[in-house]
Amino acid sequence: MKTTCKRLAAACVAVLAALSLPACGERKTAELELFAMDTYMSFTAYGNRAEEALAEAGRTINELEQRLSRTREGSEIWTLNAQGCADISPDTAELIGQALAYAAQTGGAFDITVAPLVELWGITTDTPRVPAKAEIDALLPLVGSKHLTLTRSDPALTVFDTAVLDPGCAVDLGGIAKGYAADRVADILEKYGVSDAVASLGGNVYVRGTRPDGTPWRVAIQDPLQNGCAAMLTLSDTFVVTSGGYQRFFADPDGTIYQHILDPATGYPVQSDLLSVTVVCPDGARADAYSTALYVMGEAKAASFWQSCQAEVEPFEMVLITADHRIVCTSGLADNFTEQEDASYAYEILAH
Ligand code: ADP
Ligand code: MG
Repeated sequence: MKTTCKRLAAACVAVLAALSLPACGERKTAELELFAMDTYMSFTAYGNRAEEALAEAGRTINELEQRLSRTREGSEIWTLNAQGCADISPDTAELIGQALAYAAQTGGAFDITVAPLVELWGITTDTPRVPAKAEIDALLPLVGSKHLTLTRSDPALTVFDTAVLDPGCAVDLGGIAKGYAADRVADILEKYGVSDAVASLGGNVYVRGTRPDGTPWRVAIQDPLQNGCAAMLTLSDTFVVTSGGYQRFFADPDGTIYQHILDPATGYPVQSDLLSVTVVCPDGARADAYSTALYVMGEAKAASFWQSCQAEVEPFEMVLITADHRIVCTSGLADNFTEQEDASYAYEILAH
């Protein structure tokens, strides 16, 4: 299983490749590859301070993982889950705050308190199993944002520094941490004045500025049914995040596929009419949370959620690949979207 391979690779070496600095015209090129947050990440940046920026990006991602991992003993999230209360750093507080907001916006389709069920199924572990319905039903009351509170240890503090969980509840940031890490990478690139870069954190991509030839970045949307890409997006200065059931799953001996995104309302892996959801928006954590949520919602609810967000201050765009072989692209991306000629999908534009 893919997860197993990734874990083995992680055990061998955390940082696979160090920085390299080939010359590219007059500008320096810096590249970094690493394995963190259970996925491969790669970064390319151009400019005088690109090397420093990527070095800091790598350090920051490793630090974030040490705080945010549910499974790493002693992490802030591990401590929160083990003790029901934990001191948390400003990053963790900000991320939990965002996660709670996205849970509210998506009607709980995205919900980090789904952790007890993630643990029960163990879908991305080496020992996944199909639980009995009674086991699932017993955990469902533990899921919901109302069970998680951010507080201040001192009322004089301006930021939250403590998280509290109701008994038996737990938090899993797997659906948003990579997007949050991508946001921090964008901040670091800005800090070092790096105007052109591309970062790929698993299914979370950030494109900044342009390619070396001055044209926008091209982000491929993977074909969920076969190797290769189903469509191409041409973009600058935005985050592109894809969620789907086709990469992390386990197959029961009876042949049933259980993928890793759970419906917090039922406690079961989502049986979606979507194969993948790609969200494009200027906020990495939001793109990550929404892509997971829209996959849970399915096509019809995802479309109405997109419509409802257009009327508000924070619109986003998306590409849905449906189980009945259509690719639905929202109108704001129509000019950025290229069909894959030999892909077996019908293409549709979703307008307001
Ligand atoms: P990936 O991590 O592969 O990029 P996602 O961003 O969609 O995919 O996150 C899926 C992960 O988030 C799961 O592996 C699990 O840890 C957690 N998760 C599963 N279902 C949900 C959900 N409905 N809401 C929030 N997190 C979830
Ligand atoms: Mg996500």
